[in-house]
Amino acid sequence: MGKLKGGKLVGRRPVALSEWRFVSDDEDVAERVSALFGGRVVVSPDDEARDPFDVETTTAAVEVVIESADALRSRMALYGQAGPIHVCDGAYYVTGHPAEDKVGQACGCPRSLADRKADSKAGTGPRPDISLKFRLADAPDLGYFLFTTGSWSLVNDLAEIERGLEAAPVRAVLRLELVEYTTKKGREVSYTRPVIEIKGTA
Ligand SMILES: [Zn+2]
Repeated sequence: MGKLKGGKLVGRRPVALSEWRFVSDDEDVAERVSALFGGRVVVSPDDEARDPFDVETTTAAVEVVIESADALRSRMALYGQAGPIHVCDGAYYVTGHPAEDKVGQACGCPRSLADRKADSKAGTGPRPDISLKFRLADAPDLGYFLFTTGSWSLVNDLAEIERGLEAAPVRAVLRLELVEYTTKKGREVSYTRPVIEIKGTA
């Protein structure tokens, strides 16, 4: 059991990675991951770390099995200091929103993605809160892994991924993809985005 990550913290600053990173609370799991995907097991110096065994692999694509459609959870969430304060699907409050009586009511988020991003950046609106539970195709005995992301670019892919998951259990590839482009003003932009590619029934 463990978690899959597309980034890490350097000091307090989050840094995107171009190859997948795994963390686990189980040293044997971390050793197996390292043997499968490269990289070595590093033990976190933080005594409080929940998943102290850390592997920065040398692979940007991991084959997985997704067992059911509910293995993918997607919602929009804004967190305050004490936990979530706005949990919705972009239009209505959903289960998980702190005021339970408001679930099902319109949440007031703007319709356009650009406006939602702006609100999120300003700290007044929620951002994507997407999680996927899966097993490794080459080592299903290692149990479940969880991938959690706030990626805006994955939001655009969700409808297609959900359609693919209707055939679950499915095989899929989780990929970190490098996106590079030059803006109209000539600024060069590069970032990595996660991609979930459904390959067919497992
Ligand atoms: Zn909302």
